[in-house]
Amino acid sequence: MSKAKQLYELQETDLDIAHKAETLAHVKEQIGKDDELVSARAALDTAHKHLLDLEHQQRTAEWGVNELATKITTEEKKLYEGSVKNPRELMSLQQEIDLIKGQRGEREEQLLTVMMEVDAAQRDVTLKRDGLAVMEKEWAKNQKRLSREQTELEADLATLAQRRDLLLKQIDSASINIYEELRRVKQGLAVAKLVQGRCQGCRISLPVSAQQKARMGQKLATCSNCGRILYMD
Ligand SMILES: [Zn+2]
Repeated sequence: MSKAKQLYELQETDLDIAHKAETLAHVKEQIGKDDELVSARAALDTAHKHLLDLEHQQRTAEWGVNELATKITTEEKKLYEGSVKNPRELMSLQQEIDLIKGQRGEREEQLLTVMMEVDAAQRDVTLKRDGLAVMEKEWAKNQKRLSREQTELEADLATLAQRRDLLLKQIDSASINIYEELRRVKQGLAVAKLVQGRCQGCRISLPVSAQQKARMGQKLATCSNCGRILYMD
């Protein structure tokens, strides 16, 4: 195997390692991350507290209406049982009953409003609770998948590291130094394929003599334009 081919394989391995390491970092970042669940739980909690508050308001309004109804019954009883005979007193009793009935009407309207609010709040709680249940299920599923991905990526990276070690043992250190230096300055692409006389690193056509040197493969040939190591299949 030519030096260039060995270095090309080393580069393929390094690119694979870089890609998988990046993916693994991303996967690890997602594991255990539950910000969305936390805020959904908090929203449900707030909605539930709001519902409890409205239900309390409804009970208070109901008591108010009942209290006034009892009052009306008591007063009307006085009116019809005939214990009050004085016409002026009867008139004022009737006025009082009308007044309380007016109050009861107002309270009943308030009660109706609260009941509608309770209804809306109940729907909101149900919606949020169902939404949260779906999210939790989805989250658990995702976490399982991420955990599987992590295991797979770690195994792949271990295999790639072994492969890299093996390749390093086969290549002389001077070539490796050149490769590493180029890799650093060329954003990971130290070796470029030479296809139909053109360097695939910079897309420039090279003179025949340079192409021949690359074809021989005895010594490392570099692109006269971009400086990358040239490799021919
Ligand atoms: Zn080039």
